[in-house]
Amino acid sequence: MTQLTQTSKNLSGFYIGVGCPGCGGELKLESEYFVISCDHCGSVLRVTQPEIPPAYLVSAKISKREARFSVDRHLKENGLPLTGSDLQFKYLYYPYWKVDAVLLKVRNRIETREYGLDENGNPQHVSEMEKTDVSLTPYSTTLPAGVDFDGIPEGIGVRTSYLKLLPFSRDNTQDGFDPLPVVKQWKDACDELLRRVNSLAQLDEAAFGVNRTELYRPVASLLYFPCIVVESYAGGDFNRFVVDAVTGRLLDHIDRLEYSDDVTPAEPLQMEFGQLSVDFHRCPNCADDLPPEQSILYVCNNCHQIVSLEQPAGNVGSISVTAAEGGASDQLFPFWSLQMAPEVHGRLQRLFGGLFRSDRLVIPAFRTGNFEAMFRLARRMSNALPKIELTSVESFDRRCRPVSIGLAEARMLAGIITYRAELDRLTGTLAQKSDLEVVGADLFYAPFHPESYFYVDSVMGAVTFEKNLIG
Ligand SMILES: [Zn+2]
Ligand SMILES: [Zn+2]
Repeated sequence: MTQLTQTSKNLSGFYIGVGCPGCGGELKLESEYFVISCDHCGSVLRVTQPEIPPAYLVSAKISKREARFSVDRHLKENGLPLTGSDLQFKYLYYPYWKVDAVLLKVRNRIETREYGLDENGNPQHVSEMEKTDVSLTPYSTTLPAGVDFDGIPEGIGVRTSYLKLLPFSRDNTQDGFDPLPVVKQWKDACDELLRRVNSLAQLDEAAFGVNRTELYRPVASLLYFPCIVVESYAGGDFNRFVVDAVTGRLLDHIDRLEYSDDVTPAEPLQMEFGQLSVDFHRCPNCADDLPPEQSILYVCNNCHQIVSLEQPAGNVGSISVTAAEGGASDQLFPFWSLQMAPEVHGRLQRLFGGLFRSDRLVIPAFRTGNFEAMFRLARRMSNALPKIELTSVESFDRRCRPVSIGLAEARMLAGIITYRAELDRLTGTLAQKSDLEVVGADLFYAPFHPESYFYVDSVMGAVTFEKNLIG
């Protein structure tokens, strides 16, 4: 099994540079972090993602001279005459859609086992088993959002070093550089992305049934990337060189145009972009400081209000903790308790077996190493929930582990977990997305204590998960 939506520091190779509201110093924001503290003044800050895609800009780092040097090096390596005096330079910011999503892959394969070797080492028996692998992995990509322009790459590609993104504004635009207009709406880019992802599924042929590849929760932003376009008409021959204006790398050399050179579209899209906001990490109700931990959900220690940083905020009914709170060395792990619509109760009971006597599915609200581990934990906790007594949480306990899976992601996981449970019963024949209607959501904390390689629940001593599953 591959990794679950485990966030890694180098996930997308980008960070956003904005000013601290406390001291004006520069902050480095990575999209998966909501709460950060300023390195300069120590203020605890909270980042709020806008509801509509924001636009960012990458600054050019190289000069005209360096761009020309890069072109000449390429010409020299290919035994071509170096650039002359007739060069024309265009400085462009080319728009791309940057997408971060979760990729679900269901792959059906045949597992062959050989056993009972004879004296010549040949197997006496061979068994073939149908196996289905389910995985959830982070997926990040870029797609062109501007006009077709010869020599501009289809995407920004994987980068080894961090790229700093600045909010797209006139102030941050460098002299001489022109942003090309956006002609592709996010909706169209998203359709293209789905086609691309579907062709991924076609690459792996299913050994039986149907393989599935789906994209969940795509989050988009627009990113203007700087390119220097160098053109020459020396001796009547047309040559265009496109240089990455961050690294100085030559991206393409073409000698004939497929698309019109007129980069002004008939009707550039009138687009509005969202603004990322950075505020002090305080309770919106009483303005008291909130705990500085990285979490999606908080309870204000002063006025006890629930503060959700999820965008858009899900409707969280209540936050509780098990009546038996465990010892001082226990850790309180958060779980989402999702109340399912009556129509799906029968289906859930069939899937989760006779033990399941509730209208709720429990989804871990913290990240675990892989999908199978999360699936097993969700199933065990769902079965255990009716036997657990819960009491309301008044303030945040130090032993509480942060909430790193928001309600929207938990709902998505509930659908995939149900699908995964159905696969166990109907091998590989299920091709439909499992949409489950969730009618209510609560959060609860349950105490676990470490025992050798495991965390064991301190209420019943019945639910365990491997320690190394926690990121
Ligand atoms: Zn500061
Ligand atoms: Zn408060």
